[in-house]
Amino acid sequence: MEPATREAKYHVVCRDCSVERLFESDAEATALEREHAEETDHRIVVGRVW
Ligand SMILES: [Zn+2]
Repeated sequence: MEPATREAKYHVVCRDCSVERLFESDAEATALEREHAEETDHRIVVGRVW
């Protein structure tokens, strides 16, 4: 049996300010990425944490 704990976490970090958050879904991570980028024109990096 495989363990059911395969939750990928997405680490969203802004390179131009101190915004940094952790999400369980890539949809939420991407939403923040786009929203923040549109609002502030900052560069956001989304990384995966397993
Ligand atoms: Zn920012």
